[in-house]
Amino acid sequence: MRIGVYPGTFDPITNGHLDIILRSKPLFEKLYVVVPKNLNKKTLFTLEERVALLKEVLKDLDFVEVVSTDQLTVEFARSVGARFMLRGLRMLSDFEYEMQLSTLNHVLNPDVDTIFIMSSYEYSFLSSSSIKEIAVFKGDYERFVPKAVAEALKKKYENQTNSSGN
Ligand code: ADP
Repeated sequence: MRIGVYPGTFDPITNGHLDIILRSKPLFEKLYVVVPKNLNKKTLFTLEERVALLKEVLKDLDFVEVVSTDQLTVEFARSVGARFMLRGLRMLSDFEYEMQLSTLNHVLNPDVDTIFIMSSYEYSFLSSSSIKEIAVFKGDYERFVPKAVAEALKKKYENQTNSSGN
């Protein structure tokens, strides 16, 4: 069975992530979308919220399973028998970081290779950070994210505005 692992922060999942997942379908019979616990990154959505949003958005994709792990992602890959990690590449600026990460992962677990799918043209400018920035300023972010994510962002920023007393 061809098993893949797509690791990411997904804070939150965008249409760009979704596009990569959908386009990986011919490659994998099973794809684990993996959210690492204990990230050193500060996130807008908690781990539980990010996982719940991924599960909601991906619920109709039979080949996908969403999980969180406190293992290194290459170790997670080993534990589920995955030979491949999946990552998306947008601009040239992603390349250096992704090259370093995939090389490190290959050194840590030589049985695992990273496969890259180039971002579709219409999502090549899209990132979770830019979505959050647009949402803070109440811009039009809804067309860049799945519906459940748009609703979650709306709630998040309404709550933040209310709790800050503005
Ligand atoms: P991480 O913190 O691991 O980079 P992200 O959620 O930001 O987590 O990204 C996960 C993966 O998805 C990365 O490989 C990233 O390059 C890719 N990705 C993010 N946004 C897009 C997009 N718009 N198009 C293609 N790939 C994307």
